[in-house]
Amino acid sequence: MEILDGKKVSNQIKDEIAVEVAQMKERGEKVPHLAAVLVGNDGASLTYVGSKVRSCKKIGFESTLIHLPEETSESDLLTQVKALNENPDIDGYIVQLPLPKHIDEQKVLMAVDPDKDVDGFHPTNFGKMALDMESFIPATPYGIMELLRRYNVDTSGKHTVVIGRSHIVGRPISILMSQKGKAADSTVTITHSRTKDLKSITLQADIVVSALGVPDFLKADMVKEGVVIIDVGITRVPDESRERGYYITGDVDFDEVSPKASYITPVPGGVGPMTIAMLLKNTLLARERHHKMG
Ligand code: NAD
Repeated sequence: MEILDGKKVSNQIKDEIAVEVAQMKERGEKVPHLAAVLVGNDGASLTYVGSKVRSCKKIGFESTLIHLPEETSESDLLTQVKALNENPDIDGYIVQLPLPKHIDEQKVLMAVDPDKDVDGFHPTNFGKMALDMESFIPATPYGIMELLRRYNVDTSGKHTVVIGRSHIVGRPISILMSQKGKAADSTVTITHSRTKDLKSITLQADIVVSALGVPDFLKADMVKEGVVIIDVGITRVPDESRERGYYITGDVDFDEVSPKASYITPVPGGVGPMTIAMLLKNTLLARERHHKMG
């Protein structure tokens, strides 16, 4: 069993980006600038956004955090989005999800300029991705692909079973892994909450990508010997004995499943850090594209 060490690989990617940023500076070019919009005070969102902004600083990007109160109206948020679209200093930005219930998420994501949509959530980017065209690939599936590539995990002709059909993980990873290329060329089955007898399907999987958000959901008797496990789940489980009052766990019962696996991502330290690294990579790509366009 080999651990797919997302923490290590994400640090390598960040180092590679930092080298490129240093070169940009030497050439007197503007460095990439990522902005993040956060509405409200959701604990997990605050952690994610904080860590994205810190990572920007570390690798030499400029970053701006726009933290708006929970009661921000949809039209005020749309005004903010418009301002970011029009600000030539911003190369890319994200609107951290979930948004408060009174705001229509789809409406906001549609308002983001596709050229600055480093989360890859705009239909233009999602459509381009599905058609093998150059686009911004959503950071989590992009991170999974990069992790598989860097560990040379053989995916060609393998049966990949994806658990979960969300727009940000399950659906895009099922598209990417069925495409041509490295870490792809897989035969993909996508499963979800209405899937019948999931176990009979996961037992046929060479690779399982689990993105449903239920702790310890995937057990050893649901997978075959030698399986590759990508655990995307991140759940905060309340735990009074810890200083911060919770611990983080994935969808996979790691202790049970890891002895059967050929490769497995840990939680934390697997897909999570890769997501941040690929968001930075997308921001670098955005900067390069804007630079080329003049
Ligand atoms: P989601 O929460 O929007 O949806 C869950 C999906 O799981 C749905 O498509 C549903 O059909 C499916 N599902 C629910 N119960 C099921 C069952 N019993 N059998 C099969 N499928 C079932 O999905 P999401 O936003 O992709 O999040 C999933 C998990 O991944 C969460 O824990 C989230 O925190 C985590 N996540 C992690 C990262 C990362 O960077 N590592 C990024 C995004 C999401």
